[in-house]
Amino acid sequence: MTDNESRRIVIFDTTLRDGEQSPGASMNLIEKMEVAQALVDLGVDVMEAGFPIASPGDFEAVREIAKNVRGSIVCGLARCREADIDRVWEAVRHAEQARIHVFLATSAIHREHKLKMDKEQIIQRAVQGVQRAAGYCSDIEFSPEDAARTESDFLCRVVEAAIGAGATTVNIPDTVGYATPTHMNRVIQTLRNRVPNIDKAVISVHCHNDLGMAVANSLAAVEAGAGQIECTINGLGERAGNCSLEEVVMALRTRNDYYHADTRIDTHRLVPTSRLVANITGIQVQRNKAIVGRNAFAHEAGIHQDGMLKERTTYEIMRPEDVGFAKTDLVLGKHSGRAALADRAKTLGYHLSDEQLATVFEEFKVLADKKKEVYDGDIAALVEQQMHAVAERWALKSYEVTSGSDRSPQVKLTLQFGDEQFSTESACGDGPIDAIFLAIEKLTGYSVACKDFNVHSVTVGKDAQGEVLVQVEHEGQLYRGRGVSTDSVEASAKAFLNAINRIAAVSNGDKH
Ligand SMILES: [Zn+2]
Repeated sequence: MTDNESRRIVIFDTTLRDGEQSPGASMNLIEKMEVAQALVDLGVDVMEAGFPIASPGDFEAVREIAKNVRGSIVCGLARCREADIDRVWEAVRHAEQARIHVFLATSAIHREHKLKMDKEQIIQRAVQGVQRAAGYCSDIEFSPEDAARTESDFLCRVVEAAIGAGATTVNIPDTVGYATPTHMNRVIQTLRNRVPNIDKAVISVHCHNDLGMAVANSLAAVEAGAGQIECTINGLGERAGNCSLEEVVMALRTRNDYYHADTRIDTHRLVPTSRLVANITGIQVQRNKAIVGRNAFAHEAGIHQDGMLKERTTYEIMRPEDVGFAKTDLVLGKHSGRAALADRAKTLGYHLSDEQLATVFEEFKVLADKKKEVYDGDIAALVEQQMHAVAERWALKSYEVTSGSDRSPQVKLTLQFGDEQFSTESACGDGPIDAIFLAIEKLTGYSVACKDFNVHSVTVGKDAQGEVLVQVEHEGQLYRGRGVSTDSVEASAKAFLNAINRIAAVSNGDKH
């Protein structure tokens, strides 16, 4: 498919750092480990695992990923400060291959307002930071933050100094998503033409999507000679997000005739990885999202369908199976065995321990009894419920709710907490779901504000499972919860309890 003169572009994934900074996308340690493993399977060259100095949780996540993940370079982010850099090294030192990424803002607006440093001080600080990092390991990335808005003479000087000090990758961030493709192309060309030691480092780009041009800008940089792209799964990231990994990778693959560049990404893993990250973060992918959206390959318009039937390449530039959409949605039923389930879960991109598989299989049996045909979406929902299970302090035992248009809903709820059961009966709320939420708050002792509530079906048909995603706020922090059931009220109760259990896990509070 790709010609042998293709340049290999390094894929630097920052889902776990920049992506995790998107509001509501924070992940716990188990979730980060799961994403890290999926990124290795996908074939990313480098993963930025976090910003270790930011918090003890960030530090621990980067360290655990460095210790356990094999097959990709593990990178940690640091400001140009000794304490930051030392902390990154402490976290990444156990990695098979470690990278330290130091950044310092260089644009006039950042120099004057944020750092209050002049140009010479900036260069000095950058050199000191890179040198300190280079004392620890040989793989050093330097980013002049807000590079796309930095005066080009000064940018050239900073980049030259950073490479001189030992940076092996220089990353050009468009921090605020201000660049255009032609602009980005020129910035990279200028660096290549004017920085005398530029050949000693890989040029990288980190584009934000505020004007919807992150992927286009990254490709324009590649055209100008950049050798690394920083990106995230589903384009996750602050504000409008980052360059989307799946889009930029498929653009290089599909238009190899033009770019003569490619990556080592296993594109068959794109859809499973996208789904995993969407489910873990609770940030769903829009239907018409390129490459991984549910409609990305749905040729429904009659005229297109006709063309497709005659010759698929009339309207299709990529094949759905190339990006990991299952060719057939194989259906399992109640006679399917554990091996068939395990095999399906693997194809869908999940790593299950024997213990997890045993639990998922039990739930699969229950579901298969309720519902004749079990689809991939159902299996994914069951597996994910299992994988992201937080310690289930509170579990739903039973509920009963009656409601009507002219009276308050009546709710009877029993929760299990350890060996004990707690029940409540009340008439309250604006509807059956609200009533259950209020009853759960009353029994668990946690009071929260519901910020987001989303219900959708994971597969098709009247007996399809409903998946509910909630986001609640407790003491200024956001928590997600997820529940799946063929009964949408039950799914809502499970999702709400899941969020409460997350709060309980963090606060270690057994409020009973
Ligand atoms: Zn960023």
